[in-house]
Amino acid sequence: MKILLANAVFTDGTLYRDHGVVFERTVLALKPNDELRAEYGDRCVELGEGSVLLPGLINPHVHLEFSANRSTLTYGAFMPWLQSVIANRDELVNGCDDACIRHAVDMMLENGITAFGAVSSYGFDLDACASSLQKVVYFNELIGSDPAMADALYGNFQERLFASQAVVRDGFYPSIAIHSPYSVHRILIQKALEYAKAHRLRVTAHFMESPSEREWLDENSGDFKPFFENFLRQHRAANSAEEFLTYFDGHPTLFTHVVHAKDDELAHIAKGGHTVIHCPISNRLLGSGAINLERLDAHRIRWVCGTDGLSSNYALDLFEEMKAALFMHHGSDLLPLAYRLWKSVTKNAAEALGLNCGTISAGYDADLLITRVDYPINEQLPLHLLLRRPAIESVYIHGNKVKG
Ligand SMILES: [Zn+2]
Repeated sequence: MKILLANAVFTDGTLYRDHGVVFERTVLALKPNDELRAEYGDRCVELGEGSVLLPGLINPHVHLEFSANRSTLTYGAFMPWLQSVIANRDELVNGCDDACIRHAVDMMLENGITAFGAVSSYGFDLDACASSLQKVVYFNELIGSDPAMADALYGNFQERLFASQAVVRDGFYPSIAIHSPYSVHRILIQKALEYAKAHRLRVTAHFMESPSEREWLDENSGDFKPFFENFLRQHRAANSAEEFLTYFDGHPTLFTHVVHAKDDELAHIAKGGHTVIHCPISNRLLGSGAINLERLDAHRIRWVCGTDGLSSNYALDLFEEMKAALFMHHGSDLLPLAYRLWKSVTKNAAEALGLNCGTISAGYDADLLITRVDYPINEQLPLHLLLRRPAIESVYIHGNKVKG
């Protein structure tokens, strides 16, 4: 049993001054330091000046297999980026060996990320994810809109899914990703989702990331048209947006981006109990625009914040992501937005991914960070933690110290 006494514990949107936490594998208690000293005496570890305990951060969306990208991919708009991904895919994916993927996983741990959702296109990241220290929701991605290729594509997807299901370790969750409405044939989607429902697997999908996607799905025109005609000899969108959402009815799903969704689609997402993953830096770099968080709130949709992969980011760092969101959504009141962002990368993300963490409270896994700030702690701490990020001194997962 460990007893850590801090200047502050910030969890669930509440700042607890002079509090500490008692934990083993799970959190046993969150109490005022005075009470803990009276109860446990010498067994208490005083963390001292500027110490802040935080729940471990949860990154719901990353593509680890593209971690070799530095300046290879073209930023600014979605289509040039996608074309650069296709032109450089082999070089990038082959250029990221197991060590490269492990480095990206370690980068997340250094940045306080104790759980992540990895979207895997090829299964090349399976070993690194299976043996990582963090909790991993491992999303095997299904892609392919050509019905003639459906069996082969599904077979390949199944092989990867079964390989991930053969991994047996605490905190590793084999799961399913449907790439997007424009890239997966409905037969494949329905087959995969049937399996997900039968086996109670977690599911994620990209949805309405770019203006081009909106235009292609609505009008079968725009930037996507020449791309689909030339590469895939396809003249119509694989699914309409509404059809696509209907497939996920009855199975709460994490939809990534959702920048260009219409109100009726948001109503559908809300009704399904789905979650939106907001990746502000990726959206900016790919010219996708800024999601309207107020609209999500009006529809009472849970939203969480993610990094996306290094294919559309320069870091895997939720502090950076929250800071970008803080400045991107300049119409939102500053401090309340900071609180919301913290909740999005802790409790909300844990709930959306079905993980027993994201909060420092009794019964939850002891996934937590010992951090330190070099400035006075006050009620605006959630904001200052983003502006002047704390030093992350130690990271605990399931009560075990994994860093520091
Ligand atoms: Zn993505």
